[in-house]
Amino acid sequence: MADLSDSLRRLIAMQGPIPLALYMAQANAHYYSTRDPLGAGGDFITAPEISQMFGEMVGVWIADVWRRAGSPARVIYAEPGPGRGTLARDALRVAARFGLVPEVHFIEGSPELRRAQAAAFPQAVWHEDLSTLPDDAPILLVANEFLDALPVRQLVKTPQGWRERMVGLDGDRFVPVSGGLPMDSAVPQAWREAEAGAIVETSPAAGAVMGEIGARLAAQGGAALIIDYGYAPRQMGSTFQALRAHAHVDPFKAPGEADLTCLVDFVTAAQVAQVQGARVMGIAGQGGWLMALGMAERAAALARAAPDQAKEVEAAYHRLTAPDHMGVLFKVLGLAGREWPDGAGFGPAAPVS
Ligand code: SAH
Repeated sequence: MADLSDSLRRLIAMQGPIPLALYMAQANAHYYSTRDPLGAGGDFITAPEISQMFGEMVGVWIADVWRRAGSPARVIYAEPGPGRGTLARDALRVAARFGLVPEVHFIEGSPELRRAQAAAFPQAVWHEDLSTLPDDAPILLVANEFLDALPVRQLVKTPQGWRERMVGLDGDRFVPVSGGLPMDSAVPQAWREAEAGAIVETSPAAGAVMGEIGARLAAQGGAALIIDYGYAPRQMGSTFQALRAHAHVDPFKAPGEADLTCLVDFVTAAQVAQVQGARVMGIAGQGGWLMALGMAERAAALARAAPDQAKEVEAAYHRLTAPDHMGVLFKVLGLAGREWPDGAGFGPAAPVS
């Protein structure tokens, strides 16, 4: 395969700086299609890879909503970006105990990861995007660390006004530069007067996915859990980052060789789904949500069953729930279709602001 850095350099040399979103999209498409990035030997680790308890709580949640919705016979389990299939495996093992055995549909761009998913779910159906999911049954959709990998667009305040943040070249090096076209109208009114250097980040791709999820929940029924690192309420500033071998590296160096992500804007994600007709159950911190689902009890039971692993179970519990680890930065957004009940862990339905 042609080296991605070289082809991006040629593109920029020919046509000038490219939007950050295009740089990020190209880099991640290359990155995910050429490796399995997860786990100790990879670049990053995700909640389901830390402990089976994470997927089990998701399984309890979807089974509970499904039962209270009247246990519809045909139901679709849909997971965008399933990684190694670990979350689906743990969740659906638990769900089956409650009688929930859905059709499994994965949305995955990477051939390498599709192979890993097929080993766990030979009977699954794969999709390039959400548009080809079945539309004749309710959907239980779960996405963990999917939205953060989608390309973002950044606008930067310059002395001349707001401009798109682009990627240009300084010699051989990729560098952020500001574009030539005025972009003031794309910036929310409240932020327009910000000081030079301010950055506003949006993810049209994440918005499109959330809109599709909202529309499907409204039309087909079902429920969704969107889990990721992110913020609520909205905030300014760049969250563009790169992880390689579990360390932060410069995202403008070696595109396609590190995992490029941005934090998820949870308020916008929820609102986009809501506009399409889904009901927002709420946005919870991952730690509080897992505890509300009974993860402390599950951890105690696992430790009793295998005392030699009690320390590992305790460490995983801490990592997934503690506020200074994944408990607060990671958030859970719950969505429901019409006539579908609220799921556990979100408290009384709260309006999205
Ligand atoms: N959910 C898994 C993996 C997270 S990594 C876990 O929690 O362990 C991100 C996942 O999203 C990978 O499976 C990656 O291949 C997939 N992905 C990233 N960008 C994508 C895109 N544009 N279309 C489809 N899948 C994508």
